[in-house]
Amino acid sequence: MIIVKKNLLFAICSLFLVGSITIGCKPEQKKEQEKAEVVVKTEIVNMSNSDEIKTRIARCNCGQLEVTIVGPDPERISLCHCNLCQRQSGSAFAIQARFPKEQVTVKGEATSWRFPIKGADPVDFTNCAEDGAEFHFCATCGSTVYYTSDLDDSRIGIKIGTLTEPDFPAPKITGHIKYRHPWTENIESLSMLVVQGEK
Ligand SMILES: [Zn+2]
Ligand SMILES: [Zn+2]
Repeated sequence: MIIVKKNLLFAICSLFLVGSITIGCKPEQKKEQEKAEVVVKTEIVNMSNSDEIKTRIARCNCGQLEVTIVGPDPERISLCHCNLCQRQSGSAFAIQARFPKEQVTVKGEATSWRFPIKGADPVDFTNCAEDGAEFHFCATCGSTVYYTSDLDDSRIGIKIGTLTEPDFPAPKITGHIKYRHPWTENIESLSMLVVQGEK
């Protein structure tokens, strides 16, 4: 517990550091700023979850593509506001977690596409996969269930929505917040009429 608190303290201090770098940042300084953010994320993901072994099943909407994960809660759970994630999820942001490859079993047929697309012009929108990623989805119903990153071939990313587990641990890191929909900062504060899901 003491170790976790120390990591948390370091992460918070680092966040303040990044905040100070961000102020007055020129476009050419963007790369350096992104490097600093990566350092902060690395510290935050070191905060571990329970070591309890759990079996989780990620599934597309038609059910033919299914991914079983057997292992403890993952270290890296992220919420991303980039345009790539917005388009891919069809929502304001995307959430995903990376599990060690050996904990993941894929059943069914996945179709995939690579980002960036080979031979295409560079994209003009913000994205979290410029170093290369492959996204795997069900060709029948369209759900993107998992992905791999060229920077980390030891793990497989799972799109958390495909688990349909509300008690799955909350994201620990976030990115591309400059591009977020402002209301996502505090969803609980929104005045919304609940019209579905009260069974
Ligand atoms: Zn499907
Ligand atoms: Zn993203």
